[in-house]
Amino acid sequence: MATVVKIKSIEHLTHDVLKIIAEKPANLIYMPGQAADISINKTGWEKELRAFTFTSLPEDNFIEFTIKTYPSHNGVTNQLLSLKANDELIVGDVFGDIHYKGEGVFIAGGAGITPFIAILKHLEKENKIGNNKLIFANKTKADIIHEKKLSSLLGKNFINILSHENIGGYEHGFISAELIRKYTSNTSKYFYLCGPPPMMDAVEKHLAVLGVAQEFIVKEAF
Ligand SMILES: Cc1cc2nc3c(=O)[nH]c(=O)nc-3n(C[C@H](O)[C@H](O)[C@H](O)COP(=O)(O)OP(=O)(O)OC[C@H]3O[C@@H](n4cnc5c(N)ncnc54)[C@H](O)[C@@H]3O)c2cc1C
Repeated sequence: MATVVKIKSIEHLTHDVLKIIAEKPANLIYMPGQAADISINKTGWEKELRAFTFTSLPEDNFIEFTIKTYPSHNGVTNQLLSLKANDELIVGDVFGDIHYKGEGVFIAGGAGITPFIAILKHLEKENKIGNNKLIFANKTKADIIHEKKLSSLLGKNFINILSHENIGGYEHGFISAELIRKYTSNTSKYFYLCGPPPMMDAVEKHLAVLGVAQEFIVKEAF
Protein backbone atom coordinates (compact mmCIF):
# COMPACT_ATOMS: atom_id res chain seq x y z
CA MET A 1 0.00 0.00 0.00
CA ALA A 2 1.38 3.38 -0.98
CA THR A 3 2.04 5.88 1.83
CA VAL A 4 2.67 9.61 1.57
CA VAL A 5 5.66 10.73 3.65
CA LYS A 6 7.27 14.12 4.26
CA ILE A 7 10.89 14.78 3.35
CA LYS A 8 12.88 15.73 6.47
CA SER A 9 16.08 16.73 4.69
CA ILE A 10 17.64 16.66 1.27
CA GLU A 11 21.32 17.31 0.55
CA HIS A 12 24.01 16.67 -2.06
CA LEU A 13 26.50 13.86 -1.33
CA THR A 14 28.36 14.40 -4.61
CA HIS A 15 27.84 16.75 -7.57
CA ASP A 16 24.92 14.62 -8.84
CA VAL A 17 23.91 12.37 -5.91
CA LEU A 18 21.28 13.34 -3.34
CA LYS A 19 20.73 11.99 0.15
CA ILE A 20 17.05 12.21 1.03
CA ILE A 21 15.79 11.50 4.53
CA ALA A 22 12.03 11.11 4.94
CA GLU A 23 9.47 9.98 7.48
CA LYS A 24 9.16 6.23 7.83
CA PRO A 25 5.75 4.82 6.84
CA ALA A 26 4.09 2.95 9.69
CA ASN A 27 4.40 -0.84 9.25
CA LEU A 28 7.11 -0.56 6.59
CA ILE A 29 9.15 -3.76 6.41
CA TYR A 30 12.32 -4.18 4.34
CA MET A 31 15.68 -5.89 4.44
CA PRO A 32 19.05 -4.14 3.97
CA GLY A 33 19.58 -4.21 0.18
CA GLN A 34 15.92 -3.88 -0.77
CA ALA A 35 14.24 -1.07 -2.71
CA ALA A 36 10.77 0.43 -3.04
CA ASP A 37 8.71 2.04 -5.77
CA ILE A 38 8.86 5.76 -5.07
CA SER A 39 7.08 8.69 -6.68
CA ILE A 40 6.83 12.41 -5.93
CA ASN A 41 3.58 13.72 -4.44
CA LYS A 42 3.34 16.62 -6.86
CA THR A 43 0.78 17.18 -9.63
CA GLY A 44 1.61 15.07 -12.66
CA TRP A 45 4.36 13.05 -10.91
CA GLU A 46 2.34 10.89 -8.49
CA LYS A 47 2.18 7.92 -10.87
CA GLU A 48 5.79 8.11 -12.08
CA LEU A 49 7.15 5.22 -10.01
CA ARG A 50 10.91 4.67 -9.85
CA ALA A 51 12.87 2.11 -7.86
CA PHE A 52 15.15 3.43 -5.11
CA THR A 53 17.00 1.42 -2.48
CA PHE A 54 16.75 2.15 1.23
CA THR A 55 20.15 3.24 2.51
CA SER A 56 18.73 3.48 6.03
CA LEU A 57 18.43 0.41 8.22
CA PRO A 58 15.06 -1.26 8.86
CA GLU A 59 15.23 -0.35 12.57
CA ASP A 60 15.86 3.38 11.92
CA ASN A 61 12.90 5.65 12.63
CA PHE A 62 13.35 7.39 9.27
CA ILE A 63 13.99 6.24 5.71
CA GLU A 64 16.96 7.34 3.63
CA PHE A 65 17.61 7.19 -0.11
CA THR A 66 20.83 7.87 -1.98
CA ILE A 67 19.91 8.92 -5.48
CA LYS A 68 21.93 9.69 -8.58
CA THR A 69 20.20 12.41 -10.56
CA TYR A 70 20.00 12.81 -14.32
CA PRO A 71 19.36 16.53 -14.87
CA SER A 72 19.77 16.25 -18.65
CA HIS A 73 16.52 14.29 -18.80
CA ASN A 74 13.20 15.54 -17.38
CA GLY A 75 12.54 12.42 -15.34
CA VAL A 76 11.88 11.78 -11.66
CA THR A 77 15.48 12.25 -10.50
CA ASN A 78 15.63 15.69 -12.16
CA GLN A 79 12.43 16.62 -10.30
CA LEU A 80 13.97 15.48 -7.02
CA LEU A 81 16.61 18.19 -7.44
CA SER A 82 13.96 20.88 -6.87
CA LEU A 83 12.45 19.31 -3.73
CA LYS A 84 13.00 20.60 -0.20
CA ALA A 85 12.13 19.64 3.37
CA ASN A 86 8.38 19.13 3.91
CA ASP A 87 7.74 18.22 0.24
CA GLU A 88 6.31 14.72 -0.06
CA LEU A 89 7.19 11.34 -1.53
CA ILE A 90 4.91 8.36 -2.07
CA VAL A 91 6.44 5.09 -0.86
CA GLY A 92 5.03 2.01 -2.60
CA ASP A 93 5.86 -1.69 -2.78
CA VAL A 94 9.12 -3.02 -1.38
CA PHE A 95 11.12 -5.46 -3.49
CA GLY A 96 14.67 -6.41 -4.48
CA ASP A 97 16.83 -9.49 -4.86
CA ILE A 98 19.97 -8.38 -3.09
CA HIS A 99 20.46 -9.51 0.46
CA TYR A 100 23.48 -10.63 2.43
CA LYS A 101 24.27 -14.33 2.29
CA GLY A 102 27.80 -14.39 3.63
CA GLU A 103 31.29 -13.03 3.15
CA GLY A 104 32.42 -12.12 -0.33
CA VAL A 105 33.16 -9.42 -2.87
CA PHE A 106 30.72 -6.58 -3.50
CA ILE A 107 31.05 -5.15 -7.00
CA ALA A 108 29.21 -1.88 -7.62
CA GLY A 109 28.97 0.57 -10.48
CA GLY A 110 27.93 4.17 -9.64
CA ALA A 111 24.55 4.31 -7.90
CA GLY A 112 24.70 0.48 -7.78
CA ILE A 113 26.46 1.01 -4.45
CA THR A 114 23.14 1.72 -2.67
CA PRO A 115 22.13 -1.82 -1.65
CA PHE A 116 25.69 -2.35 -0.43
CA ILE A 117 25.58 0.85 1.65
CA ALA A 118 22.63 -0.63 3.54
CA ILE A 119 24.20 -4.09 3.86
CA LEU A 120 27.58 -2.72 5.00
CA LYS A 121 25.87 -0.42 7.53
CA HIS A 122 24.07 -3.47 8.89
CA LEU A 123 27.28 -5.53 9.06
CA GLU A 124 29.10 -2.65 10.75
CA LYS A 125 26.39 -2.46 13.40
CA GLU A 126 26.64 -6.21 13.99
CA ASN A 127 30.43 -6.05 14.05
CA LYS A 128 30.56 -8.48 11.12
CA ILE A 129 32.41 -6.57 8.40
CA GLY A 130 35.04 -9.35 8.44
CA ASN A 131 36.99 -9.78 5.22
CA ASN A 132 34.24 -8.49 2.91
CA LYS A 133 35.63 -6.54 -0.02
CA LEU A 134 34.15 -3.80 -2.15
CA ILE A 135 35.16 -3.04 -5.74
CA PHE A 136 33.55 0.26 -6.65
CA ALA A 137 33.61 1.42 -10.28
CA ASN A 138 33.06 5.07 -11.17
CA LYS A 139 34.01 7.47 -13.93
CA THR A 140 35.95 9.92 -11.74
CA LYS A 141 36.96 10.38 -8.09
CA ALA A 142 34.28 13.09 -7.76
CA ASP A 143 31.63 10.44 -8.51
CA ILE A 144 32.58 8.16 -5.60
CA ILE A 145 29.72 8.10 -3.08
CA HIS A 146 30.80 7.97 0.62
CA GLU A 147 34.47 7.48 -0.25
CA LYS A 148 35.72 8.48 3.22
CA LYS A 149 33.16 6.43 5.10
CA LEU A 150 33.74 3.29 3.00
CA SER A 151 37.47 3.73 3.23
CA SER A 152 37.46 3.91 7.03
CA LEU A 153 35.04 0.98 7.23
CA LEU A 154 36.84 -1.38 4.85
CA GLY A 155 40.46 -0.14 4.73
CA LYS A 156 42.47 -2.12 2.17
CA ASN A 157 39.35 -4.08 1.25
CA PHE A 158 37.90 -0.99 -0.44
CA ILE A 159 39.06 -0.93 -4.05
CA ASN A 160 38.18 1.96 -6.33
CA ILE A 161 38.42 1.77 -10.08
CA LEU A 162 38.01 4.87 -12.24
CA SER A 163 37.32 4.68 -15.97
CA HIS A 164 37.91 8.35 -16.85
CA GLU A 165 40.77 9.27 -14.49
CA ASN A 166 44.18 7.79 -13.80
CA ILE A 167 45.16 8.63 -10.20
CA GLY A 168 47.73 6.98 -7.93
CA GLY A 169 46.13 4.56 -5.48
CA TYR A 170 43.10 3.97 -7.70
CA GLU A 171 42.72 1.23 -10.29
CA HIS A 172 42.16 2.56 -13.79
CA GLY A 173 39.89 1.35 -16.61
CA PHE A 174 36.98 -1.06 -16.46
CA ILE A 175 36.58 -4.03 -14.12
CA SER A 176 38.34 -7.05 -15.63
CA ALA A 177 38.55 -10.73 -14.66
CA GLU A 178 42.16 -10.04 -13.67
CA LEU A 179 41.12 -7.24 -11.31
CA ILE A 180 38.46 -9.41 -9.65
CA ARG A 181 40.98 -12.24 -9.25
CA LYS A 182 43.52 -9.82 -7.73
CA TYR A 183 41.11 -8.82 -4.98
CA THR A 184 39.47 -12.19 -4.33
CA SER A 185 40.67 -14.22 -1.38
CA ASN A 186 39.83 -17.72 -0.20
CA THR A 187 37.16 -16.25 2.09
CA SER A 188 35.38 -14.64 -0.89
CA LYS A 189 32.48 -17.03 -1.28
CA TYR A 190 29.76 -14.75 -2.66
CA PHE A 191 29.88 -12.12 -5.40
CA TYR A 192 27.35 -9.32 -5.05
CA LEU A 193 26.79 -7.26 -8.20
CA CYS A 194 24.83 -4.10 -8.74
CA GLY A 195 25.14 -1.45 -11.42
CA PRO A 196 24.08 -0.47 -14.91
CA PRO A 197 23.21 -3.42 -17.23
CA PRO A 198 26.32 -3.16 -19.50
CA MET A 199 28.60 -3.29 -16.46
CA MET A 200 26.65 -6.20 -14.99
CA ASP A 201 26.88 -8.17 -18.26
CA ALA A 202 30.62 -7.63 -18.42
CA VAL A 203 31.23 -8.58 -14.78
CA GLU A 204 29.09 -11.71 -15.07
CA LYS A 205 31.22 -12.83 -18.03
CA HIS A 206 34.36 -12.24 -15.96
CA LEU A 207 32.93 -14.28 -13.08
CA ALA A 208 32.15 -17.12 -15.51
CA VAL A 209 35.78 -17.02 -16.70
CA LEU A 210 36.89 -17.20 -13.06
CA GLY A 211 34.69 -20.26 -12.58
CA VAL A 212 32.24 -18.70 -10.11
CA ALA A 213 29.02 -20.74 -10.02
CA GLN A 214 25.66 -18.92 -10.45
CA GLU A 215 24.59 -19.93 -6.94
CA PHE A 216 27.30 -17.67 -5.51
CA ILE A 217 26.25 -14.61 -7.53
CA VAL A 218 23.73 -12.21 -5.94
CA LYS A 219 22.72 -9.42 -8.31
CA GLU A 220 20.41 -6.62 -9.30
CA ALA A 221 20.61 -4.44 -12.44
CA PHE A 222 19.87 -0.71 -12.05
C1 LIG B 1 15.79 -2.36 -7.76
C2 LIG B 1 16.39 -1.02 -8.14
C3 LIG B 1 16.88 -0.18 -7.16
C4 LIG B 1 17.42 1.07 -7.49
N1 LIG B 1 17.94 1.84 -6.49
C5 LIG B 1 18.51 3.04 -6.82
C6 LIG B 1 19.09 3.86 -5.80
O1 LIG B 1 19.05 3.55 -4.61
N2 LIG B 1 19.68 5.02 -6.19
C7 LIG B 1 19.73 5.42 -7.51
O2 LIG B 1 20.29 6.48 -7.79
N3 LIG B 1 19.19 4.65 -8.48
C8 LIG B 1 18.58 3.50 -8.18
N4 LIG B 1 18.01 2.73 -9.17
C9 LIG B 1 17.98 3.29 -10.54
C10 LIG B 1 16.84 4.30 -10.63
O3 LIG B 1 15.60 3.59 -10.51
C11 LIG B 1 16.87 5.09 -11.95
O4 LIG B 1 18.06 5.83 -12.03
C12 LIG B 1 15.72 6.04 -11.99
O5 LIG B 1 14.54 5.31 -12.23
C13 LIG B 1 15.86 7.07 -13.06
O6 LIG B 1 14.65 7.80 -13.04
P1 LIG B 1 14.43 9.08 -13.95
O7 LIG B 1 12.95 9.32 -13.98
O8 LIG B 1 15.29 10.22 -13.55
O9 LIG B 1 14.89 8.64 -15.33
P2 LIG B 1 13.96 7.85 -16.36
O10 LIG B 1 12.97 8.77 -16.99
O11 LIG B 1 13.44 6.62 -15.73
O12 LIG B 1 14.99 7.51 -17.42
C14 LIG B 1 16.07 6.72 -17.12
C15 LIG B 1 16.45 6.15 -18.46
O13 LIG B 1 16.52 7.19 -19.41
C16 LIG B 1 17.76 7.22 -20.05
N5 LIG B 1 18.10 8.64 -20.25
C17 LIG B 1 18.91 9.37 -19.48
N6 LIG B 1 19.03 10.62 -19.97
C18 LIG B 1 18.26 10.66 -21.07
C19 LIG B 1 17.95 11.68 -22.00
N7 LIG B 1 18.49 12.90 -21.92
N8 LIG B 1 17.08 11.38 -22.99
C20 LIG B 1 16.54 10.16 -23.10
N9 LIG B 1 16.81 9.16 -22.24
C21 LIG B 1 17.65 9.41 -21.25
C22 LIG B 1 18.69 6.50 -19.14
O14 LIG B 1 19.66 5.78 -19.88
C23 LIG B 1 17.79 5.54 -18.40
O15 LIG B 1 17.69 4.31 -19.03
C24 LIG B 1 17.45 1.48 -8.85
C25 LIG B 1 16.94 0.64 -9.84
C26 LIG B 1 16.42 -0.59 -9.51
C27 LIG B 1 15.87 -1.47 -10.58
